[in-house]
Amino acid sequence: MIDKIVLASSNKGKLKEFGEIFASMDIQLISQGELNVSDADETGLTFVENAILKARHACEVTGLPALADDSGLEVDVLQGAPGIYSSRYSGEGDAANNQKLFKELDGVATDKRSARFRCALVFMRHAKDPTPLICQGTLEGSIIDTLRGNEGFGYDPLFLVAPELIDGRSLTSAEISSVEKHRISHRGKAVAEFITKIENYLR
Ligand code: IMP
Repeated sequence: MIDKIVLASSNKGKLKEFGEIFASMDIQLISQGELNVSDADETGLTFVENAILKARHACEVTGLPALADDSGLEVDVLQGAPGIYSSRYSGEGDAANNQKLFKELDGVATDKRSARFRCALVFMRHAKDPTPLICQGTLEGSIIDTLRGNEGFGYDPLFLVAPELIDGRSLTSAEISSVEKHRISHRGKAVAEFITKIENYLR
């Protein structure tokens, strides 16, 4: 019987969101920071590999089952960059990442700027779990050439959400509320899939 799970992240927002899911199953979620787990090396070449590396590392150090996610932005005209390197794109944080992306897309026509956010969510029962539960989600959109909006984080101010997903409105993911973003986002979709699968998986 599982009664504790470690979240392979120190992000408070993620801890709250996932904590609520497990609370309804009488399972306590503990962040890896509380258990002195260092960040895993993200040496994988895919979102899924990196999420598995994070979850496996947390399992190994704590001996507990673990949940981890990995996400990023994929720009088609840049062959999927920044992709798994999204948080490390410029090496100097979110604002510099956005400026680097503007530069890379300088002169690229509006209709050639399609992009999507991706999220992989992985749950492992133990470090040698041969069948991790893997859930994934995407959010389609395109990259604009100015920053718009104050919500969200990371690349949100330059990511125009596909209008068909938000009643035809033309808004970046930094111009919609967190509740609305969660309903359509890559992370929201991966979490929704996870909720439908986790109970059976733990049976
Ligand atoms: P992770 O924490 O290793 O998954 O890194 C994810 C990185 O991808 C973040 O640092 C952001 O740069 C980017 N990213 C992922 N999801 C989002 C999002 O919903 N909005 C904006 N940026 C995101």
